[in-house]
Amino acid sequence: MSDKTIVSREIRLASRPVGEPGTENFELVETEVPRPGARQVLVRNTWMSVDPYMRGRMNDTPSYIAPFQVGAALEGAAIGEVIDSNVEGLPVGAAVAHFRGWRDHALLNAAEATVVDTGIARPQDHLGALGSTGLTAYLAVTETAPVKAGDVVFVSGAAGAVGSVAGQLARRFGAARVIGSAGGPEKGRKLVEDFGFDAAIDYRAGSVAEQLAALAPEGIDVYVDNVGGDHLQAAIGALKVHGRAALVGMISGYNATEPVPGPNNIYLAVTRRLSLRGVLVSDHMDRLPGYARAAARWLADGTLRTEETVLDGLDQAPAAFLGVLRGANTGKMLVRLDT
Ligand code: NAP
Repeated sequence: MSDKTIVSREIRLASRPVGEPGTENFELVETEVPRPGARQVLVRNTWMSVDPYMRGRMNDTPSYIAPFQVGAALEGAAIGEVIDSNVEGLPVGAAVAHFRGWRDHALLNAAEATVVDTGIARPQDHLGALGSTGLTAYLAVTETAPVKAGDVVFVSGAAGAVGSVAGQLARRFGAARVIGSAGGPEKGRKLVEDFGFDAAIDYRAGSVAEQLAALAPEGIDVYVDNVGGDHLQAAIGALKVHGRAALVGMISGYNATEPVPGPNNIYLAVTRRLSLRGVLVSDHMDRLPGYARAAARWLADGTLRTEETVLDGLDQAPAAFLGVLRGANTGKMLVRLDT
């Protein structure tokens, strides 16, 4: 190593998974990172995010974001501290958000890093409720499937990062009744006791459609879909005339090796004049600063409650990611790197 480089570690894609990924699809590699050149900063990562959409990037399939490359480091949202800088405005010591997670150190061009305000919330909140998962939830219930006063709202994946915020924001924006679904009784308890949902469905315990019909006998006005599959079908069956669904994600199919069949009751979208609309947070990142300021106030005054599941150390990042796909998290799944 020369004094112009530092030793770091990164997680690379070792191979593309078929079906459910495993630790064999990742490799931890020691690497040398150069000192910053002109208009560059060197960042020591402190937190990184693992997210369900990364499963899609492990496939060699064109999508809205490029696939990961075998043998190359993975990427994703991270927070770090600037430790060497040639950029005015990104001084040493600043906390920054960027997209070069899955590594201990990141060499970034000036435009790739944004200073985060650690005065309004903890650094890791900028990866969760104040970050793109929180913004996704906000967009879903305010624009994609706007919640109106008195609505009955159903959220799937409700104990997760997007879902737990979506349910609380649905209430904030006027929902009369908020129903969430998650895997297992403990997550159901948290939905009601910690996140303020009115009722919880344990999708592992029985039919989603039957549980939803029992909890919302008059039907639902809004559905926030994080899961797809049987949840989407149950929600379409329960949506009232002019009901609205925000299609946020469909995690139940992310490990599928064959195309996933669509809901068999989709014709109800015609007869009930439903609006089923997709949203991608990456189209709306210009909204993040304003949203984050509002969400920071809600966190501070206790009207938005969050939880996180944390694994320590870069070597645990694959386990954290695999855990998200299997439901090991409540709230945002994070990896703490400055241990
Ligand atoms: P998350 O909900 O915190 O974690 C994923 C959760 O999905 C797991 O905890 C697990 O909880 C649940 N899950 C896994 N397999 C499932 C299955 N077969 N059926 C039902 N639930 C299952 O993750 P997140 O980051 O908040 O993302 C939630 C969804 O939003 C994902 O679909 C993601 O792709 C999507 N998303 C979309 C955007 C966008 O811009 N459109 C942005 C962010 C996230 P259980 O224990 O309850 O099973």
